[in-house]
Amino acid sequence: MLKLDNVSKVYKGGKKAVSNINLDIEKGEFIVFIGPSGCGKTTTMKMINRLIEPTSGSIYIDGENILDQDPVQLRRKIGYVIQQIGLFPHMTIQQNIALVPKLLKWPEEKRKQRAEELLQLVDMGPEYLDRYPHELSGGQQQRIGVLRALAAEPPLILMDEPFGALDPITRDSLQEEFKKLQKSLNKTIVFVTHDMDEAIKLADRIVILRAGEIVQVGTPDEILRQPANEFVEEFIGKERLLQSRPDVEFVEQVMNPKPVTVTSEKTLSEAIQIMRQHRVDSLLVVDEANVLKGYIDVEIIDQNRKKAATVGEVLNQDVYSVQKDTLIRDTVRKILKRGFKYVPVLDENKRLVGIVTRASLVDIVYDSIWGEEKDVVMNN
Ligand code: ADP
Ligand code: MG
Repeated sequence: MLKLDNVSKVYKGGKKAVSNINLDIEKGEFIVFIGPSGCGKTTTMKMINRLIEPTSGSIYIDGENILDQDPVQLRRKIGYVIQQIGLFPHMTIQQNIALVPKLLKWPEEKRKQRAEELLQLVDMGPEYLDRYPHELSGGQQQRIGVLRALAAEPPLILMDEPFGALDPITRDSLQEEFKKLQKSLNKTIVFVTHDMDEAIKLADRIVILRAGEIVQVGTPDEILRQPANEFVEEFIGKERLLQSRPDVEFVEQVMNPKPVTVTSEKTLSEAIQIMRQHRVDSLLVVDEANVLKGYIDVEIIDQNRKKAATVGEVLNQDVYSVQKDTLIRDTVRKILKRGFKYVPVLDENKRLVGIVTRASLVDIVYDSIWGEEKDVVMNN
């Protein structure tokens, strides 16, 4: 149905974004492109609907070279969903859904009927037809984005990280809803993500990209069982590790709710006493309302022992923190990547409510390894 034949893209300035991609996609297949940021996923998608022209190679849809087709006509036959939703704020939901049908000059009555029918697919009633995007939740807006791509019955739909901006619960339900929808409508889908869980859940075949090249193509099962190389292994492993505890999602669930603190007017020797007492080498500095002001540690105290008298005079205000409803996996990444020993957790009023330490993360990691081992035993 869709064929990429030795497709490459070199951007002006020489950046090689996509190199020699070969791929045959069958009608009705759900293909997921996955790979780290910058590996060429979006570039590949945009070459399929000719928002970007390949530097070399050819792309065929139903045997016809897309370069032989009028780009505008071509794009109307291909649904396109992107992360930023892209609904038009001044248009009603009906107008947004029926954008392409309107361009194709469908009569008003038919457009309305189609919009209503599509809303039904995602359990939204006709009362939404005349509403505006801002009156809908993020999840509902993204549903409309998907429906818009389906509106003119395109045989092929491109989706570039369509659920990336949604909260995990909404994302989960939309993924399921969409997988069902795809099966019943028998569309060919090319879907981009950097989330391995999403890929495994949705894909008939996964295409793993690295630096513009295909590293492996296979069913989710094949890729999990026989990763082609260390890159794939690590990609599956790292992602799985951070996502393998679906019950533990937010920082609030793993933080220590009693961080050791000190207030600004305390002297440095008082601060040292508190550190000794609690066996810590760093203290979070808060005001009377428990709003985080910064931190001090043994090093800072050591440097200032002679001149300064109070904590407030020497504290470092440059402290990285997270909100209590931040996803754990994002926090884990930051802690590991930036080498923090801990991250303070704040509520919506910047008040200190807890602390996530490297040590507390060990538990999560341990649990997920244990969980995986159990699975392996059961599968054998
Ligand atoms: P992905 O979607 O996988 O994150 P992209 O396809 O957006 O990756 O980008 C692939 C590579 O091409 C990246 O290194 C990116 O910086 C580069 N790139 C993307 N668009 C352009 C552009 N218009 N000009 C130059 N380089 C670009
Ligand atoms: Mg992209």
